[in-house]
Amino acid sequence: MRFLLPILLPVFAVSLQAADSIKVLIVDGQNNHKWDITTPVLKDALEGGGAFTVDVSTTPPKGSPPEAWDSWKPAFAEYKAVVSNYNGEAWPKAVRDAFVKYVAEGGGFVSVHAANNSFGDWKEYNDMIGVGGWGGRDEKSGPWLYVKDGKLFRDPVAGKGGAHGPQHEFVVEMQNPDHPITRGLPKRWLHAKDELYSRLRGPAENVEILSTAVSDLTGVSEPNNMVLSYHKGRVFHTTLGHADYSMLDRGFYTILQRGTEWVATGDVERTAAVPADFPTETAITVVKLEGYPKQEAPKPKKP
Ligand code: ZN
Repeated sequence: MRFLLPILLPVFAVSLQAADSIKVLIVDGQNNHKWDITTPVLKDALEGGGAFTVDVSTTPPKGSPPEAWDSWKPAFAEYKAVVSNYNGEAWPKAVRDAFVKYVAEGGGFVSVHAANNSFGDWKEYNDMIGVGGWGGRDEKSGPWLYVKDGKLFRDPVAGKGGAHGPQHEFVVEMQNPDHPITRGLPKRWLHAKDELYSRLRGPAENVEILSTAVSDLTGVSEPNNMVLSYHKGRVFHTTLGHADYSMLDRGFYTILQRGTEWVATGDVERTAAVPADFPTETAITVVKLEGYPKQEAPKPKKP
């Protein structure tokens, strides 16, 4: 029977690979951003590399009656990671409880941009994301988390959580180049036009800052990519991704893929190759996606 092995193995390898892709669920449906435009970009970023298969679960629209929510019951447990592109009304209690159980028991969670504006008064959610902005957040939500002169600060200063200046391209600076998500990537790379979130506040526990950018508002290094733990679950939190043109950036694509793989499996293997066109400190790399960008970046104001 030994002579059969070389024939049988390749077939086995192919079927294993197909069955082996990481199942991801994107949640959207309400946002002060164009979620219907950006969810396909997130899906492309994840599925384009071949490591993930993605489903999307869309909530009822804002203002829907309670019965419209009754049928929205995402099957979190069927997925290795949940990616939130949602910033809106509170989910029904049964869904909140299912989500907390899912992450606590080892499910992966990825919070993208305004997903960290959501649920300012949902304790478990804020424990997962560490810090957030807007949504009623202030010093009672927890400290302002930032880096200055290479040191991490948890600043209890009074004030609202969440701020940003005009959108612009900015340099993402690695704070931890040795994490599986950041390993091998340039220490400084230019990110496409985006909002540079600052003054994010929250419990800020079990959080590790992977990268920052110097804020035009605060002058300190504000976190933009973070990892956290929530009981047995892993969380990747990126503040990047205001619009489709912010996401269509090889740096964003790469960090989202790696962050999603890491929360799903605890390591980065399938998405470890550094793309040849990864941005440099002075040049962004625009990802081409048919029909995109659909949104137009605001022009800088004339002085
Ligand atoms: Zn935004």
